[in-house]
Amino acid sequence: MTKKLAATTERAEPSVKISARGVARLQGRHPWVYRSDVAERNVEPNGVPPGSLVRVFDQRGKFLGTALYSSSSQIAIRMISHGSVADLPALVAERIRGAISYRKELVSNTDSYRIVFSEADFLPGLIVDRYNDVLCLQILTQAMDAAPVRAAVLQTLREELQPAGFVERVDARIRELEQLPPLQSRLLWGEKSSTVITMNSGVRFHYDGLEGQKTGAFLDQRENYAAAAQYARGVALDTFCYQGGFALHFALHPDRKTSSVTGVDSSRPALEMAEKNATLNGSEMDWIEANAFDLLREYAAAGRRYDTIVLDPPAFAKTKRDLEKALGGYKELNLRAMKMLRPGGILVTCSCSFHVGAADFFEVVADAARDAHKSFRVIENRAAAKDHPTLLNVPETSYLKCLILSVSD
Ligand code: SAH
Repeated sequence: MTKKLAATTERAEPSVKISARGVARLQGRHPWVYRSDVAERNVEPNGVPPGSLVRVFDQRGKFLGTALYSSSSQIAIRMISHGSVADLPALVAERIRGAISYRKELVSNTDSYRIVFSEADFLPGLIVDRYNDVLCLQILTQAMDAAPVRAAVLQTLREELQPAGFVERVDARIRELEQLPPLQSRLLWGEKSSTVITMNSGVRFHYDGLEGQKTGAFLDQRENYAAAAQYARGVALDTFCYQGGFALHFALHPDRKTSSVTGVDSSRPALEMAEKNATLNGSEMDWIEANAFDLLREYAAAGRRYDTIVLDPPAFAKTKRDLEKALGGYKELNLRAMKMLRPGGILVTCSCSFHVGAADFFEVVADAARDAHKSFRVIENRAAAKDHPTLLNVPETSYLKCLILSVSD
């Protein structure tokens, strides 16, 4: 195996020259350079092979470091090192070990968390989540899809974490965009693709690595569940509840202050899993299959009142162009929820759209409060859990916003 891995790096590496604008981005500690800034490739006749390691130079020929090259993405290169890289699989293995120790220091109270978060762990295009004894891999770039890199990823994680199973979740659209051959989500290694996970001192969830959305659960909300559960009270409504993340934490809080918890989602399979999760924890609650927009409108018209409402919709803005529409969606949801909150009530409002920045989101929620004629205090202004690190100079690594507000009127 080692021999085969080494052989791939013996070829002369292709190199690229990048424009002044590309250099400025790298100097700004951002790892991406767009195709329009990759000024010259000195590899003929067919250009740089897909997924290659490339040596990166400025216009004067000064060496800037080593990057992963994509032949199809607008992001032509993603820096992986400011020096030379002799052996990419070995570097990937070392970075994975670094990502694991980072979590060892910062993550507690859970057997499930993100182990590798792409650029934020200096491994562009590689995502690995740990769900108790099942590991889940997602590959998003040509370079990470190369067989020797995949082999190093698997071997390192197996050695370090001794999982019982290793699944790969495939995002078909991304593979197509990266011009990678289609693949099915599947068990890569071992026997287990499903398990039970435990987080925040005892809240349990079924996990099935080959079903569900994202890599199976929304681990990025883990710390927000625990935070919100401290304040949740009275009659609680968890909208866009998926498999019951917030709802279960509210119902199972050791100093429970909620009297009833209802979860709402438009996905029946998600609610079936939510129900199973409630049973697993010996808890009971109601699940409603509905479009949350319609339901909130209907409930508001019927004069229903709540003490706690969670809004955790899917990303409304998938691209910059959707921004206005997305803001309209957030405004509507927040306004309806705010109107339905009783005095002293708690609103947990989230956005996972990267294109809606933290300031935009704050503004739209404030706008909704104005229209609802209510004053809110910001109890907590939160983001993704620490196992989903944000790189200070890479805004793309920060996407989740979670405000916990209390009504003061
Ligand atoms: N709060 C969840 C994650 C929510 S993800 C957790 O912590 O696990 C967004 C959820 O919204 C998904 O479960 C999706 O099925 C659901 N969804 C999407 N559009 C919806 C709509 N219009 N009404 C209700 N649910 C919707």
